[in-house]
Amino acid sequence: MTKIQVLDPETVNQIAAGEVVERPASVVKELLENAIDAGATSILIDVASDLAGITKIRVTDNGEGMTPEEAVLAFHPHATSKIRDIADLSAIKTLGFRGEALATIAAVAEVTLVTRPRGAAALAGARIVVRGGEVVEKSEVGAPEGTTVVVERLFYNTPARRKFLKSRNTELAHIYAVVENLALAHGDVAFRVVHNGKERMGTQRSGGLLNAVAGLYGADLARALISVEGRLPFLAIRGYVSRPSESRGNPSQVVISINGRSITSRQIAAAIREGYGTLLPKDRYPVAFIDISIETGLVDVNVHPTKREVRLSREPEILAAVTAAVAEALVGHDLARDVPAEPVQQQIVVPEPGPEPRPAVGEVEASYTARHRELALSDKQLRRTEGTGAENLLPAMEPVGQVAATYIVAEGADGTLYLVDQHAAHERVLYDQVTEQRDAGAGSQELIIPVVLSLPPKESAALRDAIPLLTGEGFVMEEFGRDTFAVRAVPAALGAVEDPETVRETIADFLAGESRTAPDRREAVTCIVACRGAVKAGARLTHDQQKRLLAQLARTKTPWTCPHGRPTVVAFDKRRLDGIFRRR
Ligand code: ADP
Ligand code: MG
Repeated sequence: MTKIQVLDPETVNQIAAGEVVERPASVVKELLENAIDAGATSILIDVASDLAGITKIRVTDNGEGMTPEEAVLAFHPHATSKIRDIADLSAIKTLGFRGEALATIAAVAEVTLVTRPRGAAALAGARIVVRGGEVVEKSEVGAPEGTTVVVERLFYNTPARRKFLKSRNTELAHIYAVVENLALAHGDVAFRVVHNGKERMGTQRSGGLLNAVAGLYGADLARALISVEGRLPFLAIRGYVSRPSESRGNPSQVVISINGRSITSRQIAAAIREGYGTLLPKDRYPVAFIDISIETGLVDVNVHPTKREVRLSREPEILAAVTAAVAEALVGHDLARDVPAEPVQQQIVVPEPGPEPRPAVGEVEASYTARHRELALSDKQLRRTEGTGAENLLPAMEPVGQVAATYIVAEGADGTLYLVDQHAAHERVLYDQVTEQRDAGAGSQELIIPVVLSLPPKESAALRDAIPLLTGEGFVMEEFGRDTFAVRAVPAALGAVEDPETVRETIADFLAGESRTAPDRREAVTCIVACRGAVKAGARLTHDQQKRLLAQLARTKTPWTCPHGRPTVVAFDKRRLDGIFRRR
């Protein structure tokens, strides 16, 4: 009696069928899945190629192996040891279950399989050669425990399929990607890839996910990752995500596995990104390695022949849990510490000696009133956001001064030097407040003097269309002449600013941006209001104003970045300063 059985036709009919072997990487995937299912802890992938393409794939594992009878059966279509009948389909714990991979591969290539069951006598191994689906050789041999499968002359009898293969390097890249994904989903298995005799990648056994990441992408990336954990009664989320500063232009580095199966899921990738909220700019994606264990009954893997897609029961709960786990991991993490070190300026600039230019009397007067107005506006803007937030999330810091009227220089208790982008910082404060008020349904604040806008026809058409949306966000406005609008009230969060220029700029931004059509227009309006209502870059601030701004920033939920994902605070700790001055 063997473990492997041929499935009955009824069960076969229930299985999502289709081609599984479309390129060399598909062969590698199926062989690796078999090795993992066989309980291997160490897997070697040896690939050979010539200029024309991949010539040979050999996968060796130290798994449970097969008896000679099982080895022959394994090549039968629908022969599997992993499920027995339809009922088993609803709770699959293995990566394979269709019993088709070996049969399909052997139909389009020459396959040599050498295997010996764990614990069997050393000479009880079997060697089987299958070509074009026919067993052409069968012998008993001495073999190590485990299984080796060699695939050669892939697609030799299907020229059409061969024609679709891409360059050798592209096919190799696909193979590496397959190994990477499975290695990440199985941190407890050692993977080693050799190409034409050269070691190409490797992970260690029992290293866990973080070690697999270090092995595949380097220790620097692994060190910079933040650990994520989440739990519901029926699932556990584990993994690592990058700090916002380590973002990428596309989602290719969002790696997801469910119950050890490497999968693609736009929904889960989106849920991970959602956990970053405004920590990431719209067009950036994090680096993430997320592994989810779910009760097998809730995961349907029988959706697609390549098994890269799964269907989840209770998907909304699972997605929400992923988002929450990522958000929780990021909140309270000292995200500023990791701002990449800029190359240190080695130049020393000697100031030119010369007389200080002295302004004429009239200029002093004019600049005094301008400065007064500037300070008064900043004051209004800061007063607006006074007394919000609760918990203090930033280290204590005392402002020392301002650089370029844009960056606040501050000192931390431990001698850390902080640079704070004043506009970005206040934008964060205001954004949080506007969001809160918006969600609490806070309405509008009437302007004492309505702001009048005269617009070119095209823009006024756009504004006319947008009035219902803007009204929903707390603006009250009407058209009272040809292409002329009166704004009578603004969202409460913008209200106290009462600066007509700010109101005009906010509406101009709204009309100029893609926000009118963006999927989340409310969010777009909030961002604009936050940006326009915030203390400006280039505005000189008094010591007291700087202090207030830092205090307000510290009480936001995510003080380290502005709503567009740019940093608000950059820290240079004492050690780094010492390093710059070579005191160490
Ligand atoms: P599936 O993995 O869907 O069951 P396959 O055609 O990939 O179908 O494999 C058929 C059977 O051969 C498996 O169910 C398993 O019992 C056996 N098998 C395949 N590869 C290995 C291996 N590396 N080690 C041990 N058994 C294997
Ligand atoms: Mg399989």
